[in-house]
Amino acid sequence: MEEEKRGLNLFEVLRDYFLYYAALGFSEIPFSKEFSFLLDQKEKFSKDTMEALFEKISKCEDCKLSRVRKHPVLDKNYENKRLMLIGDFPDRDDDYFGWPFSGPIKDVLQRMLFSIGLRKEDFYITLAVKCKPPAGRLPEEDEIEACKKYLLKEIRLLKPKLILALGFIPPKIFMKKAETFSSVRGNPFSYKDSLIIFTYHPSYMLKNPAVKRLIWEDLKTFKRLYEENFNS
Ligand code: SF4
Repeated sequence: MEEEKRGLNLFEVLRDYFLYYAALGFSEIPFSKEFSFLLDQKEKFSKDTMEALFEKISKCEDCKLSRVRKHPVLDKNYENKRLMLIGDFPDRDDDYFGWPFSGPIKDVLQRMLFSIGLRKEDFYITLAVKCKPPAGRLPEEDEIEACKKYLLKEIRLLKPKLILALGFIPPKIFMKKAETFSSVRGNPFSYKDSLIIFTYHPSYMLKNPAVKRLIWEDLKTFKRLYEENFNS
């Protein structure tokens, strides 16, 4: 009841404010600092900001993983990042802490990036699927499909020139049905204003050391593109 009363009072204040300016002959409302909080909120929660996207993902229940996750996994450090890194899906540590590459695999990733003179801090880091699947299984097709809108929106908002994508899940979002991981791996893949290099995930490399050489080839391609785009 008290809430209703407060809502009604605010409505009446705004109505009187608009009527007052209409009576003075204004067709637009002059900016007033008493109402600047409305503009701030509009800016913060307008549909086209990263904050609004984070808010939406943090409450998302668009697939069945929402019932088994602890947190959707997000790295909110997107400002001043020229590069994007896409992992595949959260592991147990990510699910526990709420941000990607939070467990021991982050050291392997960091060493990979150091080898081409970059650091993971140079990247906005995200995942193709934001919530952890139950132990022992990969994200299913319907879960990848439900979640891909968030990744595509991150790319649309941040417009990274270069993206490094790790693992078998990210290519599924971009490639045509007939294409395979091997056919897209290592070759610059164009998506909107971005070039994407797909390569193996570091956790796959730990189980299959033979792919280390292929990852190194892909990282060198990424480094070449980086130098062409940022150091020329
Ligand atoms: S995996 Fe993606 S679509 Fe599914 S609940 Fe999490 S955020 Fe939503």
